[in-house]
Amino acid sequence: MPTSLFPTTSAPPSRRKAAPSPSDPAFADKALAIHARLCPVYGCPIPYFHSLDPVSELVSSLLSHRTRNAESGRAFKTLRARFPDWESVIDAEVPEIQAEIAGVTWPELKAPRIREVLIAVRDRCGSLDLAFLGDMDVAAARAWLEAIPGIGPKTSAAVLSFSTLRMPALPVDSHHHRVAQRLGLIGPRIDVGPSHAILRAQLPADWSAQDLYDNHEILMLHGQQVCHHRRPACGRCVLVDLCPSAAAGAREP
Ligand code: SF4
Repeated sequence: MPTSLFPTTSAPPSRRKAAPSPSDPAFADKALAIHARLCPVYGCPIPYFHSLDPVSELVSSLLSHRTRNAESGRAFKTLRARFPDWESVIDAEVPEIQAEIAGVTWPELKAPRIREVLIAVRDRCGSLDLAFLGDMDVAAARAWLEAIPGIGPKTSAAVLSFSTLRMPALPVDSHHHRVAQRLGLIGPRIDVGPSHAILRAQLPADWSAQDLYDNHEILMLHGQQVCHHRRPACGRCVLVDLCPSAAAGAREP
């Protein structure tokens, strides 16, 4: 296996040097090399999978936590079919909402959470319309969203990137996070939330919304199709020479 030009975390503790900072330029080089390798595999530019308005994307994202896409998509459709608009969800009783989203993980928590978040949006901007976020820079728009209890970095990035706002934000889901961790782009103790800022900082500041969306999608797809949670298929991975986890012995049996 070729010696990696990029930072790794696979050295035994006795030989391990101080961990490089995520702002080290070597991480940016490695992040770009990974992007360049995966783009042809997964077909960048990747079409957006949603064209929802920002509030609808917010609800969709809240439904999706720890839930398969098919289930959260079904719950979103059911919710929209049952309630004519999001104001009607605010006016509904929590058990009514919960009944419509029964297929997702933790519907008993998500039903009141969705209603509370919608109320907070309406209270803070006077309507259920988040189009004004498109006039803000990404950092300010994310801060505005994350000031609402129940909205974290993953949800704020999803609203800005996946909705019709199409803003240059980088979402990180559990697949993306796992692959980035195995590749050594983030440390083993960095959780999904804090990983958003680290992984975004490794990519060019002037990347477009499509570039960042592609980066998220290719790492997510790689996690779904090759770098599986339990048994990563390192034997057919195009990143094997860049990956300290492969060097440590992660192999398809
Ligand atoms: S080499 Fe293995 S552990 Fe590393 S990214 Fe590829 S599949 Fe994942």
